[in-house]
Amino acid sequence: MNVNRRTFIKSSSILMGGLFLQGNEIFDLSENSANNIKELTNNIGIYNEKGGTIGWYVQDDTVILIDSQFPDTAKNFYKELKTKTDRKINYLFNTHHHGDHTLGNFYLKDFTENIVAQTNCPRLQVKQNKGKKTENQVVIANIVFDSELKFKLPKENLTAMYFGQAHTGGDIIIHFENNNIAHLGDLVFNNVYPYIDNNGECSVKNWILVLDKVLNYFDSDTKFIFGHADNTENVIGNKKDIENKKDYLDALYSYVSGQAAKGKTIEEIENSNTIPGFDNIKELWKGARKMNLKATAEQII
Ligand SMILES: [Zn+2]
Repeated sequence: MNVNRRTFIKSSSILMGGLFLQGNEIFDLSENSANNIKELTNNIGIYNEKGGTIGWYVQDDTVILIDSQFPDTAKNFYKELKTKTDRKINYLFNTHHHGDHTLGNFYLKDFTENIVAQTNCPRLQVKQNKGKKTENQVVIANIVFDSELKFKLPKENLTAMYFGQAHTGGDIIIHFENNNIAHLGDLVFNNVYPYIDNNGECSVKNWILVLDKVLNYFDSDTKFIFGHADNTENVIGNKKDIENKKDYLDALYSYVSGQAAKGKTIEEIENSNTIPGFDNIKELWKGARKMNLKATAEQII
């Protein structure tokens, strides 16, 4: 493994002044769900309570987590994890910087040897939480990488990869190759409108290209874990779900581009409140469709 390893996990809370964002709050307001831990294989599973889906890998030689939700739900999760293993967490991956995937780092840091993320993630984490009540809960990765990082574990080969700007400026995918299970973070909001975060460097146009790369990279047997879905069953899915999300983003981008070309303002596009062919998707939070239109228009106009 070729990484720049440092040992400041326990002291990497970052304090700064300022103000902004909305992404943490959206998912912080969502309902906590029960029956949270689920096994996909004997060693790999997921956890859903509040915020982005946590992925876990537990072997007698290695423990890996993907994403950490919030401090309170990370604590609930960790209690469940302890029933499976006494080992320390060797690697905690953050699929991207959003608070519902990274704020739980604050709780898990004491039980974790390394936090891994894409190079852009720590910077965006700091920016997102600046001046908010969560700013002293920011715990950033001690291992970062640009495009690919491979881990040869005793019983699994794992690849973390970055295909470019998409849902944010630093979305990574973690692939358990032997089990052919991939955690896609928020590259797919399955059956719901996605969160388009311009402050977090989202690019709808590039997101479409990234999903194309995902579809080319993985085979038809790959099982995918998604950050969010319309229910806890659908956080697990297949290539068809990725194609659907790509089709949605395609429709969103081409509708907004067309309206912009006609001279429509951002406000007019937002208030049209339609994405032809995709008006019946579930809103995970009220006004999600309008927010998608507004944020995409801001990227184009
Ligand atoms: Zn996100």
